[in-house]
Amino acid sequence: MGIILSMCICVGSVFMANQVTAAPEHGRNGEYRLSAGIKRKEQVAGGVAAGRRITFSEKVMYLTFDDGPSGEVTENILDILKARKIRATFFVIGEYVRRYPETARRIVDEGHSIGIHCDNHDYKMLYESVDSYLADFMRAYETVYSVTGVKARLFRFPGGSVNAYNGKVCRGIIEEMERRGFVYFDWNASVEDAVPGAQPAQFVENAVSTASGRKRVVLLAHDRTVGTAQCLEELLNAFADYRMERITSETKPVQFVRP
Ligand SMILES: [Zn+2]
Repeated sequence: MGIILSMCICVGSVFMANQVTAAPEHGRNGEYRLSAGIKRKEQVAGGVAAGRRITFSEKVMYLTFDDGPSGEVTENILDILKARKIRATFFVIGEYVRRYPETARRIVDEGHSIGIHCDNHDYKMLYESVDSYLADFMRAYETVYSVTGVKARLFRFPGGSVNAYNGKVCRGIIEEMERRGFVYFDWNASVEDAVPGAQPAQFVENAVSTASGRKRVVLLAHDRTVGTAQCLEELLNAFADYRMERITSETKPVQFVRP
């Protein structure tokens, strides 16, 4: 487990001493990585001795987008993320990667993580059996590889790892996917932009209320929903005290409790 500090240099020694629980991530401007073996008190003492103020960025959010790429909505989201120098994670659908290959490549080229969602977003077909899930997954996997060159390791189950359609097969699917080295992420907060009757005016509030102030948030959103792109700036502003990170294969997963 890595520890990332954001640091600013100034006179004085005000600091927060909360434990940082972020998973290892790539350093960004203003951040640096310290070995987990170094005690936090020693880090703080070192900063004080050097006349530096150390502020711990203890909150981290992993922005995740499912069901894309979708052409214009995904492009709009990428524009905003680029302008704000934020990296996110896109769990894509193979069918749409074939339809919007340039957008899929842009996701990768601009430093975001790409993971697999499915090839055909049909719950009944997907979760009919372990084999039907795997066949669909591999179609999407091969598409992402051929279009972007990425051998995806991350994935997200349509409907989440535990849902109304996969009760009999989810355990078998998870075991086989993990045996093959894939890592899945569920979520612990949601914009609620893909539910029946989704109200764009409520998206930011939905995200804030479901995140519940957690220090580590995996936020579910969809880059097929026009309102999601439209509210993204406001959404990011609402979580200004969070470091925004992309998920990598080293990120500690957020997963629903298995049955
Ligand atoms: Zn989905």
